[in-house]
Amino acid sequence: MAERIPHPLISLFPRTGVWFWRLPLLAITALIAIVSFFVWFGLSQERDERRAALVSDSLWMEQNLRYQFESTENQLAQIGNEFGGGGELHSEQAQDKVRALLQGNSGLSALLWLNSEGTMLSTLPASAAPVKLAEDHPIGVLRARTLNRPAYTHPFLQPDGTYAIEVVMPVFGANDFNGYAVGVFSLPRVISSHVPWWFAERYRLSFTDAGGLEIASTTQAGALNDAQAFGVTFERMGGLGIRVNAYRATTRVMPAIVVMVLVGFTLIITWSLWMLRNRVLRLQDTETALRSEHAFRLAMENSTLIGLRARDLQGRITYVNAAFCRMVGWNSDELIGLRPPMPFWPDGESEPARTDRDGLTNTPAVEMRYQRKSGEIFDVLIYEAPLIDADGRHAGWMGSVLDITERKRAEALARDQQEQLEATARLVTMGEMASTLAHELNQPLSAITSYSAGCLNALKAGRYDEKQFTDVLGKINHQGQRAGRIIHRIYGFVRRSESRRERMDVNAAVLEATGLLETETLRRKVRLQIELGMDLPAIMGDRTMIEQVMVNLLRNGMDAMKHTPESQRVLRVTSEAHGDGVRLSVNDHGAGISPEIAGRLFDSFFTTKPEGMGMGLKICRSIAEQHNGRLWFEPGPHGGTTFYLQLPVGEEEVSA
Ligand code: ADP
Repeated sequence: MAERIPHPLISLFPRTGVWFWRLPLLAITALIAIVSFFVWFGLSQERDERRAALVSDSLWMEQNLRYQFESTENQLAQIGNEFGGGGELHSEQAQDKVRALLQGNSGLSALLWLNSEGTMLSTLPASAAPVKLAEDHPIGVLRARTLNRPAYTHPFLQPDGTYAIEVVMPVFGANDFNGYAVGVFSLPRVISSHVPWWFAERYRLSFTDAGGLEIASTTQAGALNDAQAFGVTFERMGGLGIRVNAYRATTRVMPAIVVMVLVGFTLIITWSLWMLRNRVLRLQDTETALRSEHAFRLAMENSTLIGLRARDLQGRITYVNAAFCRMVGWNSDELIGLRPPMPFWPDGESEPARTDRDGLTNTPAVEMRYQRKSGEIFDVLIYEAPLIDADGRHAGWMGSVLDITERKRAEALARDQQEQLEATARLVTMGEMASTLAHELNQPLSAITSYSAGCLNALKAGRYDEKQFTDVLGKINHQGQRAGRIIHRIYGFVRRSESRRERMDVNAAVLEATGLLETETLRRKVRLQIELGMDLPAIMGDRTMIEQVMVNLLRNGMDAMKHTPESQRVLRVTSEAHGDGVRLSVNDHGAGISPEIAGRLFDSFFTTKPEGMGMGLKICRSIAEQHNGRLWFEPGPHGGTTFYLQLPVGEEEVSA
């Protein structure tokens, strides 16, 4: 019996409702979130670090500049003492110092010398054009004098378009106030002298005035990061300040690659998960289809009345259906796994084993007997087809088993009825021939009567001799035997026997049939011409049946010649070896058979005779077929019709 198949897929991959089916999605979402967080975190940390670096770099820069300014102030203070009252330098040495100051990296573009009233005495480097001074130059001078320390003016625009800033240093001689040394710092020069390359690389540095307006800056090109800027204002320097602005950082390659790889992996995982899901859904559809197919097959197997049984190449039973179990009386658990001999084989019988050599073709049906569990024997017909497994391998044989007991019974009944019909037909033939036969019997009987009357008379008269008596008694005996033969023949013809196949001489059957019709031919004035072949093979057959066919054909021939002139009423019977058997023929000189009725001759109850039954030819043909032979007719060579009966030699039956 077919079992229910388990449904593993259904419980593994439900379409809805089970949490762990969502797990991969959750994991991926979490992964994306974590990666995003780390990326964001990394970026913001980097930003903070940059910010901190910017601030400390800016403060360092501010100090550096302040220090530079201060050291220039000190140098100015020293040089101030070298100037004479007329504004000239005392020594060569002092001139070198000034030159070094102006050409070195102090950022000074000019140096002025003022007397204690603030009047300009000399300018270095000496130039044709007067040095442009800051608008608040007098205030600077005043402040320097009042506070006794260096004072800075506001930054101011120079004729060349750049900005500068003045520092006014009060200069003291040995004991008294000497005047002022004024340095003009060119801001672009300060920048180029004091901003190191690494700083300029990273930041744009600019000087701003009191209003925050940019008045000089480093010259590197590059996009600025507006968020990363820092400004410091110098104390006591007329609002001068610096602003440091970071350039936009070029994205760092490694983190970018990491992020890209992570995003790539996430995409791949999501994609493959999606594909997996689709595949599982498809698998589910297939499985659903499979299950409905299975259910369909199960229903089919259980509803069919044909027993189904599969066996593997070793003959072991691998499957039986409900009908098979009902048929044999054992249930599937008892049958599956059994090896030959099977419990449902009657003693001493077995199914032919199948091997690989039988090939993959369906084998011809096998008819055999099975035994039910109850002991009852029944007939089955088995068809087997090769069983191919899912891998295409020949795994065994699937057999359908039909209980044909009923069919066999019906066949036997039909055979029985056919035999009865044939016997009845013979009786009817006899009935029709009764008067002729009576006449035929009458002859020997009346001969016997008259012979015996003559003998009696001779005895009464007392005149007899022994020789005469012996002669007469011999004739009586002969006539008696003749009568006995006639009766025997009739008895043999009408006796209803079960069809019996045996080796038989066809010629003997022909002679028996003609003998039976001897008187009738005389009465109808038909000449019988019998030509029998010599050395015919004996055939397997039922002699009474073959005689019956011949009697029928001969009588039909005689009927057909009713209106034939007496001189031509010849009925020719022949026998000859033909093909793998014997061919008999009956040829008449009657009217022949018209095409209109030729097709219906062998139908039941077809007759053209008023007293006819129309069963003769029908029965003849079925007898021919029972002998695996053939019955047909052709127009005769000299008019009339010839009927042929072809009988094969046939094989000896191995009767059970
Ligand atoms: P029945 O002899 O009782 O009519 P048959 O089946 O023997 O039944 O014959 C059927 C019919 O076939 C006959 O009625 C006859 O018309 C035709 N028939 C049979 N044999 C011959 C023959 N040798 N010549 C002409 N017609 C024939």
